[in-house]
Amino acid sequence: MRKPIIGGNWKMNRGTPNETIEMLESLVPQVEGIDTVDIVIATPFTALTKAYEIIKDTNIKLGAQNMYFEDKGAFTGEISPQFLKEIGVEYVILGHSERRDIFKESDTLINKKLKKALSISLKPIVCIGEHLEEREAGKTMHKIEYQINETFKDLSKEEMRKIIIAYEPIWAIGTGKTATPEQAEEIHIFIRNLLSQKFDKETADSIRIQYGGSIKPINAEDLFNKKNIDGGLVGGASLQSDSLFQIILAADKSIK
Ligand code: PEP
Repeated sequence: MRKPIIGGNWKMNRGTPNETIEMLESLVPQVEGIDTVDIVIATPFTALTKAYEIIKDTNIKLGAQNMYFEDKGAFTGEISPQFLKEIGVEYVILGHSERRDIFKESDTLINKKLKKALSISLKPIVCIGEHLEEREAGKTMHKIEYQINETFKDLSKEEMRKIIIAYEPIWAIGTGKTATPEQAEEIHIFIRNLLSQKFDKETADSIRIQYGGSIKPINAEDLFNKKNIDGGLVGGASLQSDSLFQIILAADKSIK
């Protein structure tokens, strides 16, 4: 039985101290007592400390949207994973398509970051997914297989079991176009089968695979009802506590 996980990725859309206080002070009482779903909020770096003050004794965990793979040094503009740990960050999103496409992060770089996160017990949420042109050209599976091979290169089964995968078709991110539950489930099954071949069935069955791409309260339940979809990574709908709460409730309902 895999526990669903809902991650709210605020991107660079929210994160002033007032916005952080407003959103999280509203969310904390809404989700109080929910222990069937892991809840993670990934704020911009500048809001992490404020967010931690509000959520530290609650069932909401803190996530970062990125990190570098070195602890210290001359890396202007980068963020040390150790700094993140020290301020209460538990999860880190790695390889988001915006990092890959806009900031040209390669699978090799993401693999290095992933190994670093694992080595200091930050829980990685690793994003993979295809562009619209790749889907239309029938290359979705090929892309996913490539990303899995490269991003998860040289990891042990034990390491793999600590990772959360977010399948995010890039054409569905921030576009309002959600993959149908059937389209998403097809890829989730494909990912699980690949993990089973690459590692083993027990490992593949234990790994949580989130769906991401325009999840809203209206479509969340149908997605989460699919057997291989273990919650979601949510962008736009995570900016307001009411919509994120509805999505968390949908995940809670999917296991009952
Ligand atoms: C995301 O940022 O990972 C995402 C899925 O965004 P949205 O929900 O806005 O499509």
